[in-house]
Amino acid sequence: MSTVLERPLDVVADFPAIPAGWAYLDTAATAQKPKPVIDAIARGYGETYATVHRGVYARSADMTIAYEAARRRVAAFLGAASADEIVFVRGATEGINLVAQCWAATQLKAGDRILLSQLEHHANIVPWQMAAQRVGAAIDVCPLTADGRIDLDAAEAMLTPAHKLVSLAHVSNVLGSILDVHRAVEIAHRVGAKILIDGCQAVPRLPVDVTALNCDFYVFSGHKLYGPTGIGVLWGRAELLDRMPPWQGGGAMIDRVSFERTTYAAPPARFEAGTPHIVGALGLHAAIDYVDAIGLSRIHAHEAALVANAREALRGINSVRLLGPDDSAGIVSFAVGGVHPHDVGTILDEAHVAIRAGHHCAQPLMAALGVEATARASFGVYNGPQDIEALVDGVRRVTRIFG
Ligand code: PLP
Repeated sequence: MSTVLERPLDVVADFPAIPAGWAYLDTAATAQKPKPVIDAIARGYGETYATVHRGVYARSADMTIAYEAARRRVAAFLGAASADEIVFVRGATEGINLVAQCWAATQLKAGDRILLSQLEHHANIVPWQMAAQRVGAAIDVCPLTADGRIDLDAAEAMLTPAHKLVSLAHVSNVLGSILDVHRAVEIAHRVGAKILIDGCQAVPRLPVDVTALNCDFYVFSGHKLYGPTGIGVLWGRAELLDRMPPWQGGGAMIDRVSFERTTYAAPPARFEAGTPHIVGALGLHAAIDYVDAIGLSRIHAHEAALVANAREALRGINSVRLLGPDDSAGIVSFAVGGVHPHDVGTILDEAHVAIRAGHHCAQPLMAALGVEATARASFGVYNGPQDIEALVDGVRRVTRIFG
């Protein structure tokens, strides 16, 4: 292998669920959890547990402080202007659905258009289809460049004043291609459209600053950032969140309730009806501390080296077709000629290599690539050269078995 991992991270010992000899290459689906996150969750339930925002006793007040500290930590991590711009949701899927319902409810009307791209995850397609159907808006699909990036020249040519919203993935969950968010924001704003960035695959591997990016909404899932499942983040500009109606009614999202008239709390509480995922927020806080202590620039460099090594080694196997650009962020999708990706995944599993095989919740992208499914190896902080070797040896074995 020619690309050397100059400063390998060597943090696998922090991850108790990764046994020696197991190459976990499915971080794009969900990341393994480091000990500090597991400890924060155990402490949250085992030592400090109580409800938030309601209790008059000290334990509940302390938990409220911890829960709101997690919100401030997320705000700092994303470069948000204020913690009030951070809405805790179940994950990116819920964050996008929230915007597609609440923002679209007042801002989208018949004849308006939404621009998505060919590589979006279903979570960034279906909510917009539902929103568009409700009001009679239309969806346009930006094509990709030959190497699998969202074609922003094409997007620029497609955008018109009828476009009210653009929603794009910061990093593709299949191809790993990285969006030039600055340019995407610039061309969306030029026609007066708002822009949502799906940061699910970006936040675990690239530094993100929503203020510098100048986008309007940004979403991500905690579990892909080494945090717990069931907690995610919607960041929205304060003036946009302020104008959005709530989507779920219940406790915590109200100002005053009577049978005659109910008034709503200000954001973010307006969008957090019911008892929240309290311990999930504490786990997410610990995950952000963990990732920040390593440094996202270092993580990105580490994963870029792993990607370069993996692509170079896989390129040396005749029947392998690599998908996506060479500078993909932490994700390598590939096809082995004449072999179904599920068979690739099964044979690799026998060799203790865990990859994802399937359509990756991106069926329109599969159609554009002319495949039903792909094999996907995705990396995290715990991966090293030995995992690439196991992957490449396993793929060679696949080619031998299938002749
Ligand atoms: N967007 C992208 C790019 C993803 O990779 C994923 C998950 O794979 C999602 C959205 C949905 O995330 P979740 O299922 O955590 O809500």
